[in-house]
Amino acid sequence: MTSNIIRVPAEMLFEEETVAEQQSIETMKEQPKYVIHIIWRYVMLFLYLHIASLYGIYLAFTSAKLVTVIFAGAHRLWSHRSYKAKWPLRLLLVILNTTAFQNSVIDWAKDHRIHHKYSDTDADPHNSNRGFFFSHMGWLLCRKHPEVMKKGKAIDISDLKSDPMLVFQKKYYALLMPLMCFILPTVIPVVCWNETWTNAYYICAVFRYIFLLNMTGLVNSAAHSIGNKPYDKYIKASQNKSVAIMISGEGWHNYHHVFPWDYKTAEYGNYSFNITTAFIDFFAKIGWAYDLKSTSEDMVRKRVEKTGDGSHDLWGWGDNDQTQEERNQMIVTYNSAKD
Ligand SMILES: [Zn+2]
Ligand SMILES: [Zn+2]
Repeated sequence: MTSNIIRVPAEMLFEEETVAEQQSIETMKEQPKYVIHIIWRYVMLFLYLHIASLYGIYLAFTSAKLVTVIFAGAHRLWSHRSYKAKWPLRLLLVILNTTAFQNSVIDWAKDHRIHHKYSDTDADPHNSNRGFFFSHMGWLLCRKHPEVMKKGKAIDISDLKSDPMLVFQKKYYALLMPLMCFILPTVIPVVCWNETWTNAYYICAVFRYIFLLNMTGLVNSAAHSIGNKPYDKYIKASQNKSVAIMISGEGWHNYHHVFPWDYKTAEYGNYSFNITTAFIDFFAKIGWAYDLKSTSEDMVRKRVEKTGDGSHDLWGWGDNDQTQEERNQMIVTYNSAKD
């Protein structure tokens, strides 16, 4: 007789999802080769939404009166605790997060903490070693690798689960998300400024959603494959200026993976490529955000010298990379030295 090891035939995985869910870990023990498990209903849903968003672009250039763009982000607050926020700001961010349909904050932040802890390994939900498309969006279309589930159990999210606003959002997500992401963005433009139903749905709801989803995906795909590594050349996360411009400062990813607690997610506080920093600073000025954490210049310099790929900007006067010609030709005004 054959052994009594439970094996699930590959074709069954697509038909009997519940069987695969319960037995996947057991099966993996006996089958070292990981078999990708595509969730076809998600594939069809995302296919439809992408096609519908293309129609939204067409309408935007032909008959739209107004394109509404909403950007939401809870990355720096909840995933990394890089600053603290009073309840009005937390409420605002939860509402904006719900409009983005990228899972509840608790689920998003848990995935993101796993990503940081096990970057670009099988335990990373959007492991960039599995290809550009997988890290960009493919990971949303198939079941998580067993290693993600296994390592995810050890990730502490007790702080997130103790926040009543986040618990409420997760509990009622199936109701709140369609309302905030699709229904209200369609109804509000029609009622408030007489937009057509077609424009409102395809542009303000679907296109806005798909656009933001793809922009977010670029952080996991492009910023994990394209760019230099001035802070740590041994990781895949890279500095990608294009992504930083498009995602409000989230593209300085080599720095962010080295110093994930820095609320600026970048070394410099330059607002032009980091609108999210300006957003947090604004709320800090009115007292809604506080305890903004940053990294000292000295700590950054030590890390650059230790693990950087040599592409870091000049530190300033006296930097080892400064040429003699630059030193000779410098201009000093209000010189205090007396000749
Ligand atoms: Zn990353
Ligand atoms: Zn992060």
